[in-house]
Amino acid sequence: MDCHICSKPCESFVHTKTSITYYHCNACEYIFKSPKYYQDLQTQKERYNLHQNNEEDADYRAYFQRFLDFVLPYVSGVHTALDFGCGRSSLLAQLLEEEGISCDYYDPIYHPHTLDDSKKYELIVSTEVFEHLHQSKEVFENLLGRLDKGGYLAIQTEFHTNEHLGFQTWWYPQDPTHIVFFRVKTFEVLCETFACKIVAENGKNMVIIQKM
Ligand SMILES: [Zn+2]
Repeated sequence: MDCHICSKPCESFVHTKTSITYYHCNACEYIFKSPKYYQDLQTQKERYNLHQNNEEDADYRAYFQRFLDFVLPYVSGVHTALDFGCGRSSLLAQLLEEEGISCDYYDPIYHPHTLDDSKKYELIVSTEVFEHLHQSKEVFENLLGRLDKGGYLAIQTEFHTNEHLGFQTWWYPQDPTHIVFFRVKTFEVLCETFACKIVAENGKNMVIIQKM
């Protein structure tokens, strides 16, 4: 199997608990689940409906606030944003509005008709979305196309540790809708491919990319 990000040959390994095959690219450090386990949107929706994301919940607000505390210092001066893959809630968009940033939101399951293809943004945020993407490279490119030149793409997804033993015991792949796994290196390769650069990353789960 060739890497879905950089097209180089991947090595495969089998998860000892689930017997599911994963592919691991040594070049860009991307890990992806065997595509035969990818789920359709309806099956994913049944899983997402279990998520208890209450907008009044202080923990849920704090969770987004941690993301914004990391991102906002690097993107000062932006006025327009899109929350891509917001889920059922528009809370992150609301928090951005409170920061004086006009924010649209889109979700393929819960808010599927909110994208305006003629519109460009100075900032796109996407939290806990990329690990669900069947075609993450194509979505990455699509999002860059929705950014102004110099605009920012801020992504939150848990970075893996780049070794198989740790992957077997990691909680993140245990969610069946989590199918692809990144490291900073993966985003570096995407940036080389699509003429953008990493502005900041926290080594754990957040990365900010700027379109050149
Ligand atoms: Zn690769």
